Amino acid sequence: MTKDIYLLGSTGSIGETTLKILKKDKNNFKVKLLTTYSNVNKLYKQAIQFKVKNVVIFNKEKYLKNYKKFKLKKINVFSSIDEVFKTNNKKSYITINAISGIDGLEPTLNIIKYSHNLAIANKESIICGWNFLKKELFKNNTRFIPIDSEHFSIWSLIKKEKIQTINKIYLTASGGPFLNTKISKTKNINPKYALMHPNWKMGKKISIDSATMMNKIFEVIEAIKIFELNPKQIEILIHPKSYLHAIINFNNGLTKLLAHDTNMSVPIANAIYANYKTYNHSKNKFKYEMLNGLNFIKPDIKKYPLLELLNYKFNNTYLEIILVSLNDALVKKYLDYKISYLSLQTTMLKLLKKPYFTKYYSTKPRNINDIKIMVDRVNIYVNKHLS
Ligand code: NDP
Ligand code: MG
Repeated sequence: MTKDIYLLGSTGSIGETTLKILKKDKNNFKVKLLTTYSNVNKLYKQAIQFKVKNVVIFNKEKYLKNYKKFKLKKINVFSSIDEVFKTNNKKSYITINAISGIDGLEPTLNIIKYSHNLAIANKESIICGWNFLKKELFKNNTRFIPIDSEHFSIWSLIKKEKIQTINKIYLTASGGPFLNTKISKTKNINPKYALMHPNWKMGKKISIDSATMMNKIFEVIEAIKIFELNPKQIEILIHPKSYLHAIINFNNGLTKLLAHDTNMSVPIANAIYANYKTYNHSKNKFKYEMLNGLNFIKPDIKKYPLLELLNYKFNNTYLEIILVSLNDALVKKYLDYKISYLSLQTTMLKLLKKPYFTKYYSTKPRNINDIKIMVDRVNIYVNKHLS
């Protein structure tokens, strides 16, 4: 019998990679739900190609303008996850959250009760809403698998280990496109160069976050939450080849490393097959030469000033929501040529210290509505003061 898959964010980079994997195994998997924010044409093509009968267009305007086109092909179109399940409450074998940004949190919370397994790439929702996600996962007996490659690697390496046996986890970072560029030359970098990641092909926002090291800071917070680590147990190391994804040193003196190609299809496919059967990677070719000269470098805070953010304590308060939303808003401004590469980073550090925001750092949001109100507050502030 085929296993049903719900795929949130199907029109993005992770979404498309997931569909490529599923296309090769139509005997075992059937895609039953696809979603987009506004890329209606791509969603339409995907729905036809994979014969999917339920789709969500989250952007209300696009939904209203386009739903008839889907109806003509007998495809049900919705504008939220809640609507999808008003008449259908069948659980997916696995749901994959490939939405970008904090907006991925609400659909994920809403779909957990309809999912036996949940695989999340959307780091922002883990950083901002892990407490809520964890509670919902437990309540519905839904198994969780991280897809972010570093977290998938850690998850695979410590399945049978206790967290207390870990001395240190090293998260590897490529260093981004400006690893070897003089600091003085990076002040006014054009976004088109910042988008050129040396090893990975990804969506725009995460590519900019990789250049500034924000992505790795997010991943440290993500790992602390998912694996319940003490912040002292985790460190960032630059590894330009990006072939190793996690290094775990245990108290007993043993160290485990996990390596794979810089292709997200490896963690995504292994996550999809994790609780089901063994996955055979069709392009499997072990590149032993990639393990020669691994070349690890400690990141320099002068080059990556955002590393200062690791001094904050991330205890599931509004701090995480403010951090993620400020970064979302500033990256958008940078991509729109409204602020420089340097000011993307300095403004981030400066704004986070404003009493307007710091007064919330000891308070915890009670629910998703509290989170949404704070995201709006941050966006209003940024648009008012940085327009
Ligand atoms: P993309 O920008 O390529 O795709 C994002 C997807 O989310 C698209 O389907 C997009 O729809 C949808 N989306 C965007 N905004 C909203 C919204 N407000 N509401 C609902 N849906 C929305 O991102 P990536 O695929 O690169 O990344 C997805 C997530 O995975 C991110 O959180 C990222 O950090 C994480 N990740 C990505 C990796 C990668 O290699 N790309 C690696 C590890 C983690 P539309 O097409 O209409 O914009
Ligand atoms: Mg990653």
